[in-house]
Amino acid sequence: MPLITTETGKKVHVLEDGRKLITVIPGDGIGPECVEATLKVLEAAKAPLAYEIREAGASVFKKGIASGVPQETIESIRKTRVALKGPLETPVGYGEKSANVTLRKLFETYANVRPVREFPNVPTPYSGRGIDLVVVRENVEDLYAGIEHMQTPSVAQTLKLISWKGSEKIARFAFELARAEGRKKVHCATKSNIMKLAEGTLKRAFEKVAQEYPEIEAAHIIVDNAAHQLVKRPEQFEVIVTTNMNGDILSDLTSGLIGGLGFAPSANIGNEVAIFEAVHGSAPKYAGKNVINPTAVLLSAVMMLRYLEEFATADLIENALLYTLEEGRVLTGDVVGYDRGAKTTEYTEAIIQNLGKTPKRAQVRGYKPFRLPQVDGAIAPIVPRSRRVVGVDVFVESDLLPEALGKALEDLAAGTSFRLKMISNRGTQVYPPTGGLTDLVDHYRCRFLYTGEGEAKDPEILDLVSRVASRFRWMHLEKLQEFDGEPGFTKAQGED
Ligand code: NAD
Repeated sequence: MPLITTETGKKVHVLEDGRKLITVIPGDGIGPECVEATLKVLEAAKAPLAYEIREAGASVFKKGIASGVPQETIESIRKTRVALKGPLETPVGYGEKSANVTLRKLFETYANVRPVREFPNVPTPYSGRGIDLVVVRENVEDLYAGIEHMQTPSVAQTLKLISWKGSEKIARFAFELARAEGRKKVHCATKSNIMKLAEGTLKRAFEKVAQEYPEIEAAHIIVDNAAHQLVKRPEQFEVIVTTNMNGDILSDLTSGLIGGLGFAPSANIGNEVAIFEAVHGSAPKYAGKNVINPTAVLLSAVMMLRYLEEFATADLIENALLYTLEEGRVLTGDVVGYDRGAKTTEYTEAIIQNLGKTPKRAQVRGYKPFRLPQVDGAIAPIVPRSRRVVGVDVFVESDLLPEALGKALEDLAAGTSFRLKMISNRGTQVYPPTGGLTDLVDHYRCRFLYTGEGEAKDPEILDLVSRVASRFRWMHLEKLQEFDGEPGFTKAQGED
């Protein structure tokens, strides 16, 4: 069987001659130039790889395929399980989805890995401080699940879903990565001080998983402070694991620390498939000009070689790249200015000429095989010892002021087993009044607590909702649940 599972848990397609088959997507804009340069270096380094070249992105959208990823590409990745891709253009506006997000979601590549390091002769305000860190971003959950609704004509909602399973997986991934790369410290960056439940889930999972890795120091950091510290003292970080949107922002920040997007590679890794790509996009204004920096895609290929456990070839290429930069004779326009920069092809040729050379100062890190965390394919629910529905939040659209709405809802709930506890507007309690000066929109969350025996039963909740509906337009209902006696919901600002 050509598809094997390695000892470290990765799926790899190995041909009879021993080469590993991968899918290559040249992509849009500068993508084809970056990918061509990378394939040349891989060939010159005699990387034991074979390729299936497939399409995705703008050309595919133009054919009317709304996902941006045609069936042949999906089938190829299903077969090879490893892809190297150039950037894909995302059409702006309605209709088409991002082909990048389609690929990440389709293959559940739950970990987005973005390493950055200082490069010789790539001057930045941090030069000489030895930045060398990896952002591990959860890649499929959080706000990027893309579950959005207009709740009233003027109020939009995005659901931020964070699961224990997803959090445990990404936390374990980060510690395994630290172990494979000989890194001694993992930070977990969350906004759990505000989003105690959603962001707090990653914090709690991280603290639990950390106990399995006693040799690695584990620290939690609030994400805004992480941004501050990354700018002030980035050299203190080795691995940062974080939720999807935090990771999106922090990892672009870290790319900026080391000389820009031309130098920032990434990997999207799941249990079935791994996709390697630059952090940058298709940079259309430079497309076809032979001036861009192909390093980010080349380093993504180096990450891919290490994933495939082709360590010698990966080191050979990384050393040649570092040597080329250290020599400083052939540098691209993003580093030295486009009036003076080398052509993409000259830079690529220089790296090829330097294969086999070792840089004097810059060093390649020692890598060990990375062990993919084992993931239970089952749903893996957490079963609490006890659970109880203690109330319900009914979200209504109304242009009444809070006082009038509150009185009306109290009248409607009279005679039911619920009492109106409070009403909030965009998260802040506005009824009973708190004395705050909250600006109002037509979107109220009305919290009813159950006053009957045991827990609130569905017919009682539905009766309450139909009473509310007799006077108000409601658009969303949320049960207030307790698990093991702990509330599974937060209080509004100002709620006692
Ligand atoms: P971009 O990353 O394409 O370009 C921003 C700027 O960064 C460029 O103008 C250029 O100055 C610089 N840059 C980027 N890559 C470079 C390289 N290799 N060498 C030298 N300079 C480089 O970001 P954008 O302009 O916001 O996005 C353009 C398109 O790419 C959009 O359609 C966007 O959706 C898409 N995109 C795709 C991916 C992906 O495929 N993973 C990622 C980001 C953006």
